[in-house]
Amino acid sequence: MIKDNLKVVKDSLADGVELVAVSKYHPISAVQEAYAEGQRVFGESREQELRIKYDALPKDIKWHFIGHLQTNKVKYIAPYISMIETVDSLKLMKEINRHAEKNNRVIDILLELHLAQEDTKSGMSCDDMRQMLEQGEWKNMKNIRICGIMMMASNTDDEERIKQEFLTAKAFFTEAKQKYFFNEDYFSVKSYGMSHDYLLAQECGSNHVRVGSKIFN
Ligand SMILES: *Cc1c(COP(=O)(O)O)cnc(C)c1O
Repeated sequence: MIKDNLKVVKDSLADGVELVAVSKYHPISAVQEAYAEGQRVFGESREQELRIKYDALPKDIKWHFIGHLQTNKVKYIAPYISMIETVDSLKLMKEINRHAEKNNRVIDILLELHLAQEDTKSGMSCDDMRQMLEQGEWKNMKNIRICGIMMMASNTDDEERIKQEFLTAKAFFTEAKQKYFFNEDYFSVKSYGMSHDYLLAQECGSNHVRVGSKIFN
């Protein structure tokens, strides 16, 4: 039951931890069920699927894009997306900024770190991210707001490894906060933790978890 699952997950979150209900691959009716329980933030990873759900569902839903985003898809989501969590290149950032400007809005984004073992996952290494922040071109992009970092841990049973990745993400957040965003209250999001590891993620400083199967399966 979505209703019961949602309650279990919510009850296990500390105050101030945002829950993104990841509804990818689940039908519109599943989103409606969670919506009826008061959930308003949902995550989707494919543009087409998101568009169908956006059209069909209430407009006070905050949609977070959490999949790999191709630059040629940005224009479709720019009018309505609430947050793009998976920004992994300067090129993508520029494109989001450009389309946000066209739509007369400021789009919230997260910088995606790649710390996992798997090459299949996207995101930037800490070093590449440092370079991009240092280079500073992002400072001229007035139609995006960098709100924090996002990270997907390795797909492994090795809890110690997952924990190390979470702590690395946390440390990177703190470093970036101090260096570039010290006075920006909006730079506050640490997005890591999914169904199987969100409790550990919370212990490691996450304040934004993306939970799918534990709610919808
Ligand atoms: C699918 C997905 C999730 C949710 O995963 P679950 O294991 O179903 O909780 C979270 N984040 C990203 C980026 C995803 O693609």
